[in-house]
Amino acid sequence: KQVENSLLDHKSRLDYMVFHDNLTGLANRSMFYDRINKSLGTAKIANQTLGILLVDLDRFKNINESLGYDAGDDLLRITADNLRSQLRENDTVARLSGDEFVIVLENVNRRADIEVVAQKLLNRLALPVKLQGHQITTTASIGVSIFPADGETIDLLLKHAGLAMNKAKNLGKNRFEFFEGAMSSNKAVNYLLLENDLRRAIEQNEICLHYQPQVNIVTGKIVGLEALARWHSKERGMVSPLHFIPLAEETGLIEPLGEWVLNHACERFQAWLMQGINLGKVAVNISPIQFRKEHFEQTVVKALMNSRLAPQYLELEITEGSAMEDAERAVEMLNCLNGLGVSLAIDDFGTGYSSLAYLQRFPIQKLKIDRSFVKDIETDTNDAAIAKSIIDLSHNMSLQVIAEGVEHLEQSNWLMAKGCLQVQGFYYSKPLSEEQLMAWINSSAVIRDSNGIRIPL
Ligand code: C2E
Ligand code: CA
Ligand code: CA
Repeated sequence: KQVENSLLDHKSRLDYMVFHDNLTGLANRSMFYDRINKSLGTAKIANQTLGILLVDLDRFKNINESLGYDAGDDLLRITADNLRSQLRENDTVARLSGDEFVIVLENVNRRADIEVVAQKLLNRLALPVKLQGHQITTTASIGVSIFPADGETIDLLLKHAGLAMNKAKNLGKNRFEFFEGAMSSNKAVNYLLLENDLRRAIEQNEICLHYQPQVNIVTGKIVGLEALARWHSKERGMVSPLHFIPLAEETGLIEPLGEWVLNHACERFQAWLMQGINLGKVAVNISPIQFRKEHFEQTVVKALMNSRLAPQYLELEITEGSAMEDAERAVEMLNCLNGLGVSLAIDDFGTGYSSLAYLQRFPIQKLKIDRSFVKDIETDTNDAAIAKSIIDLSHNMSLQVIAEGVEHLEQSNWLMAKGCLQVQGFYYSKPLSEEQLMAWINSSAVIRDSNGIRIPL
């Protein structure tokens, strides 16, 4: 009898192991398929609707890499508990792979029912958690498909939930999106075409750089240039970076594109130096995707070596968001870049949530006041207050500060009065093509000082 019992125990334990995920105790992939096929069968007969929610953590890889695999495992266990805590008894939740979970909501009547659950899950997952002694905030993205509207087989439903998930990630993460038929037809096709065009554009030199001067208001001298990408498409005309940079980021094309920009900016600046033209520094925008990449510094090293540009002529603009997203990791990467001798500026400063503790640990040289605060700087007291505190902050931390988007003399005067001496904006110059920039310099270019008086370079 005893032997029989222990054999039974053994068998049920084996069953458990075969059908459950060791780490989280959730159903695993095979149990999930088994269950969902039954659910689909029942739902079909009873004319019921099911909601399939694909849940993916937003920065799992990041946590694994920065805090270690034990922390990653802890996070997966906590996530599993969090998911379970928000669901009903008979809803299925399984771990499909890595940080990908799937939930099946049985017998839902309205889309709104799914929305409520999805939002509840997101809220719960966004609460801070403690991992190996570190307080961490993570978020998740959710893609939703509905049986039978979005498919009748589990494979199709998962595929469609996956597309919806990509959309949620692309739209900024920490959100849920429903699958829409259009994703697999119209919109996706257009997107694909644009992606192909962009891919070709990078190969066929349809991308070029324009350079916007950065000026010291007091001396009237150019202190640097910001390199800004331009796409002159044969079919589409001029495409704004506000469109193609996000596309490049979503499709992964930002890596070759960003590398091209970096190489090209270094080459041009070095060529100008060789001609005796020294415009201070060339600033290159670094996408969060590039910055996040392991060994991003190697890309910078390569660009400097290929162009033979001395590092003090290169400035990298890192957005505030990308520096604060994973600040521990950012400290490491910024130190590494700083060690190469390049300058570092925090772009779009004021738009994100900076931790001053981290800001102090970043080996940076410059803050760029975001355009949005400069726009109404003389009339909007909030904007003025923010701009003023950024200027003070930079002085207190011995950092340089530059304001972007200066379009009028009044803005420039306001900034100078508050101690911000570097500016960039249409009032001084629009971004210029290489030819325009050279023509400007060769015609013994002049720029205007803060009182609108034109002064020679
Ligand atoms: P950003 O880094 O904030 O760049 C400044 C943008 O402000 C540029 O727009 C510039 O033309 C515009 N601007 C400059 N002065 C003024 C002004 O006085 N008034 C107004 N209204 N705008 C002004 P652009 O060239 O269209 O670039 C837009 C954004 O695209 C950039 O914003 C940057 O985030 C991104 N971008 C451009 N080139 C690259 C690149 O090579 N790599 C990456 N990762 N991002 C890039
Ligand atoms: Ca910038
Ligand atoms: Ca900016």
